[in-house]
Amino acid sequence: MKKLVELLLDDTSDKETFRFQVGCDNCRKTYQSKLRRFSKAGEDPPTDEKRVLYAAIYEQEHRAARQDAVAQLAERFNYCPICKQVVCDDCFLICADIDMCRGCAERLQETGVSVLTDVSNRG
Ligand SMILES: [Zn+2]
Ligand SMILES: [Zn+2]
Repeated sequence: MKKLVELLLDDTSDKETFRFQVGCDNCRKTYQSKLRRFSKAGEDPPTDEKRVLYAAIYEQEHRAARQDAVAQLAERFNYCPICKQVVCDDCFLICADIDMCRGCAERLQETGVSVLTDVSNRG
């Protein structure tokens, strides 16, 4: 799942914060990762040398935040093996034979329970 989420990941980071989001193919709802602040946010590098350093730190933290975001968001998304779309937990059903998205379940006349009702402790 992480690979797919990574492909769909939207980078909404700016100079001071890191944040990523993924939209559900089905309901178009957007899920955001937790906001992370750049450790040097608001600080002006005093020298050109420091500027280079800060840029490297930013890159490093950006990469880490991205990995984190993928892990967070992968838990909320599912791959539908029928229509090959990536849908959120809201749009995904656990069915008897194979899990699939709501749209496909309707079309194929399968019944299932939502992933959300199945798992009690989900953020
Ligand atoms: Zn959805
Ligand atoms: Zn589907």
